[in-house]
Amino acid sequence: MKNNLVCPVCEGACSFLDVVDFNKSCEEVRGKFLDLTGVPIYYAYCSNCSFCFAPEIAAWTLEEFEERIYNEEYILVDPDYVAIRPEANAAGLISMFGERAISIKHLDYGGGSGVLADVLKKSGWQSVSYDPFVDRNVSVDQLGKFDLITAFEVFEHVPDVQQLMSNLRSLLAPDGVILFSTLLSDANIHVNQRISWWYASPRNGHISLFSRNSLTNLAEQSGFNFGSFSEGSHIFCKEVPAWASHIIRLA
Ligand SMILES: [Zn+2]
Repeated sequence: MKNNLVCPVCEGACSFLDVVDFNKSCEEVRGKFLDLTGVPIYYAYCSNCSFCFAPEIAAWTLEEFEERIYNEEYILVDPDYVAIRPEANAAGLISMFGERAISIKHLDYGGGSGVLADVLKKSGWQSVSYDPFVDRNVSVDQLGKFDLITAFEVFEHVPDVQQLMSNLRSLLAPDGVILFSTLLSDANIHVNQRISWWYASPRNGHISLFSRNSLTNLAEQSGFNFGSFSEGSHIFCKEVPAWASHIIRLA
């Protein structure tokens, strides 16, 4: 059967790579399995940039996400999201930027209930949290411009990557830096192989899985440079501002 799926990143041709049960979760890596739902979720794969995504879930409304993924049972599949991860990320940012960050404006994009921004504010940062799923009555245009935007474990949850990039572009100051985390799929997703990667988990809302190539492509479309500190942490920026020059060197 032919499909007409087009890659949301590069508009390349996509085909279905595999299908998993909706309840496949990241906790399976720790040996915890939910009962199967019998609901099949297909992942599509772009032959050009290797972006992998779940087209059916990407078309859901915010209400459907809230009802089916970000509901009261979400904590079972991501127990660290409430406090452990945002507190660890805040500590990481403080050690990375120290006193340099106190003069800059910081936005935590996709910051849930705002724990990371709250911890940073206690350390003297000018931090704001914004989450499209939580702050639904806030318009991106009202937030202003930011020197540093962080997006921890956000990209893989996003149903519309072009909307994400458009929001980030409009929120970023001209010489600002976007620091984000998402695990690269390159070593884990391959054509003509079933998906066994723990990170490809619909129950966690992991519906957009990025290859290095797909992130490079997104950066170029926005006029950003793209770089990685590791398989899981990355930056987008046009220029490197003085306050970040100790951690970022453009090639
Ligand atoms: Zn693509």
